[in-house]
Amino acid sequence: MDLAFERLADRMHVVSLPLATRFRGVDVREVALLSGDAGWGEWSPFLEYGPEEAARWLAAAIEDASLERPPLERSRVPVNATLPAVAPDAVAGVLARYDGCRTVKVKVAERGQTLADDVARVAEVRALLPDARIRVDANGGWGVDEAETAVRALERFDLEYVEQPCATVPELAELRSRVHRLAIPIAADESVRKATDPLAVARAGAADVVVVKAQPLGGVRAALAVVAEAGLPAVVSSALDSSVGLSMGAALAGALPELPYDCGLGTGALLAADVAEPLVPVDGSIPAVRVAPDPALLAAHAAPPERVAHWRARLAACLPHL
Ligand SMILES: [Mg+2]
Repeated sequence: MDLAFERLADRMHVVSLPLATRFRGVDVREVALLSGDAGWGEWSPFLEYGPEEAARWLAAAIEDASLERPPLERSRVPVNATLPAVAPDAVAGVLARYDGCRTVKVKVAERGQTLADDVARVAEVRALLPDARIRVDANGGWGVDEAETAVRALERFDLEYVEQPCATVPELAELRSRVHRLAIPIAADESVRKATDPLAVARAGAADVVVVKAQPLGGVRAALAVVAEAGLPAVVSSALDSSVGLSMGAALAGALPELPYDCGLGTGALLAADVAEPLVPVDGSIPAVRVAPDPALLAAHAAPPERVAHWRARLAACLPHL
């Protein structure tokens, strides 16, 4: 694809998609979609990300729109349900959106909440789904001591792993040495996708599992290389993407040699509207297929002009970092 600003801007459609459940403190998800010779790519770095970080997401979108995807090892990808930090009485309603998912990722350590809130939420999931695999994601919200306390409080629910319990690699390594006796694996997410060196966490022995996302790592091919070099089991995830972005994640998950964990690619269920027939879980999985937006839905959910202008300015700011 021609990297000139005008050419990219002409192929960019910005949409504003309402969420079914408030997530990451937002009610709508703004997403830019790029059309190219091979199909559509999604560029949806969160709004607070600066140009350097957002440029890696842009590289992924350009690659996905421009190049054929790597060959698939599997045609469908098992996905997990994602449960935002809701109150226990809202858990059943959220889980009902995920058809046939055997794994639930529960958000914990939400600002303004307590460990008791997390325990109550996880307990509710376990009560509703006695056989489910349950993982928790703290998004780096705990210090080492807090994380150890939390893991000890949550271990009775038989956790699959705890994702990004602490923010930094040294903290993860310290926690890992402490909780090893509990045999709860630690997964690294932000320490992979927001790091200048996505392999540092693996090299430091600070995680048992790496969470990889196609956009933050600069594309499907770059993410495949990170997994190969990390030498750790990988979970593919997304970032509250539209179905176009989820399909990029499914291309990554579909191409990995091994896929031992269910992937965080079921989040289409958290959107109240999408740009295409939603890529939501059916019987616990999604197909690894390309998704092209429906022109009528692109128009119906088009972002207002001032937001389009914001994304064009963001595009201009990112291009020098590609
Ligand atoms: Mg995460």
